[in-house]
Amino acid sequence: MAGERKCRALEGCDLILVSEAPWRATPVADRVVLRAAGYARHSGRGLCTNHYWQAARAGTLDQYPGKIRPSTNVAEDWATISLSQNKLESRAYRIREAAPRMGMTEHALEKALDRLGIAS
Ligand SMILES: [Zn+2]
Repeated sequence: MAGERKCRALEGCDLILVSEAPWRATPVADRVVLRAAGYARHSGRGLCTNHYWQAARAGTLDQYPGKIRPSTNVAEDWATISLSQNKLESRAYRIREAAPRMGMTEHALEKALDRLGIAS
């Protein structure tokens, strides 16, 4: 699996995280094989499902800050990158082109721009 990183539960966890999309795309029977090989679905904040819910129940999720980019950085990066883009292309196309350069997924960038009220 690409980009292997372990669950960062403070109590220690050796499970290797698989992002939501590839995990969901994996047939259930194959997930069993992955689990047996030490892989687990990434639930958020760098935690496997068990540790995510354990921390949520214990009220300790704040010990695991999420990977949220400050919105000012997104706005600045988008402003810079969009200068080099063809404004006649669709917003979706420009997001697809810019997202990897900004280290974000297309979905995350689109949501961030929507939150910032940036339409183009
Ligand atoms: Zn874990």
